[in-house]
Amino acid sequence: NNNNNQRTTRTLGSQTGRVPVGIGRRRLRIVVTGGAGFVGSHLVDKLIDRGDEVIVIDNFFTGRKNNVVHHFGNPRFELIRHDVVEPILLEVDQIYHLACPASPVHYKYNPVKTIKTNVMGTLNMLGLAKRVGARFLLTSTSEVYGDPLEHPQKETYWGNVNPIGERSCYDEGKRTAETLAMDYHRGADVEVRIARIFNTYGPRMCLDDGRVVSNFVAQAIRKQPMTVYGDGKQTRSFQYVSDLVNGLVALMEGEHVGPFNLGNPGEFSMLELAEVVKEVIDSSATIEFRPNTADDPHMRKPDISKAKELLNWEPKISLREGLPHMVSDFQNRILNEDEGKQA
Ligand code: NAD
Ligand code: UDP
Ligand code: UDP
Repeated sequence: NNNNNQRTTRTLGSQTGRVPVGIGRRRLRIVVTGGAGFVGSHLVDKLIDRGDEVIVIDNFFTGRKNNVVHHFGNPRFELIRHDVVEPILLEVDQIYHLACPASPVHYKYNPVKTIKTNVMGTLNMLGLAKRVGARFLLTSTSEVYGDPLEHPQKETYWGNVNPIGERSCYDEGKRTAETLAMDYHRGADVEVRIARIFNTYGPRMCLDDGRVVSNFVAQAIRKQPMTVYGDGKQTRSFQYVSDLVNGLVALMEGEHVGPFNLGNPGEFSMLELAEVVKEVIDSSATIEFRPNTADDPHMRKPDISKAKELLNWEPKISLREGLPHMVSDFQNRILNEDEGKQA
């Protein structure tokens, strides 16, 4: 299997006449679906920086050209407006499959489209991986654990998921995507990698995407109350985006299929998160309670021993270190927005 893949990629390299990067490694051609989105665009930066060719496939549902505009004009970068629900023909070495809205507000907006993206989109990218012998990485989610009855969550936990709820298009969609990946792996010898990503934050998140970190940060900057849903005692673990990107690359380059939890084990209640945002942005910031959404998981925290041991990866950036990087990006964008309104 391994040898087959190496053979295929070598042939592709010579066909396309791509030159080697550095010593002992030739330049790879890599597809990033969802590459104009929050996580995808940071991943693209890393892959371009290390000298590879990147093709972004994105339908711009939640992604923006602005997130990748700094690569326009680079001959190693290509942007294709395409919906992964439709088939596509490309010749590539690796596929990072991220295309899927990630914020609950976005994925519930058109749930049928979300599940089509997760099922048909993933099927198409696996079909592509099979045809060209590319390695395929799925960005799955901690949501596959549902409202977990095991805490912290290990990869061996099968989850507690409502199959008919408002979140199902996303969490059941990702569970099916994992199933498809494993079936292509076992049945068609596709080299797959599965990451289960826990809540991630950082620059370039959509300002109004409804996720808690982006909401609190934007609210505190705009001097609006931070909206705490429910009693605010539910917990999440927040990972800075550069830690995630390093984990995704380590997983893709490593020899293990996974699934691997990629997240920061630091666990915060929403009330604690609001306190940290207050410390970092504005000590006079206030909170306001709102009713919670249906099926909201009560707690979430990754057990990352598997990734530590097999990928030699662990997150380095704490919430208090990471937040300020996101704040300056949000401040600039909110300022531009306000200036736009005045103009
Ligand atoms: P995002 O919404 O910023 O990015 C998703 C990208 O996919 C966007 O650019 C969007 O336009 C594109 N897209 C959506 N549907 C598409 C389709 N049908 N065809 C082509 N492109 C499409 O979200 P993100 O936070 O960057 O998340 C990226 C991936 O990571 C997603 O698969 C998400 O499920 C997963 N993930 C993210 C988190 C997180 O906290 N950020 C947590 C768990 C899993
Ligand atoms: N596919 C694609 N690009 C490719 C190869 C396949 O988009 O380069 C799509 C294909 O249209 C199909 C899916 O991937 O819908 C699964 O392909 P596979 O060959 O595994 O299955 P089949 O075509 O036999 O159903
Ligand atoms: N949340 C909140 N205020 C907001 C947005 C979200 O208190 O303005 C809560 C939400 O109820 C959930 C947690 O924050 O318990 C994380 O929500 P998010 O949408 O960021 O991600 P999830 O982990 O639910 O996918």
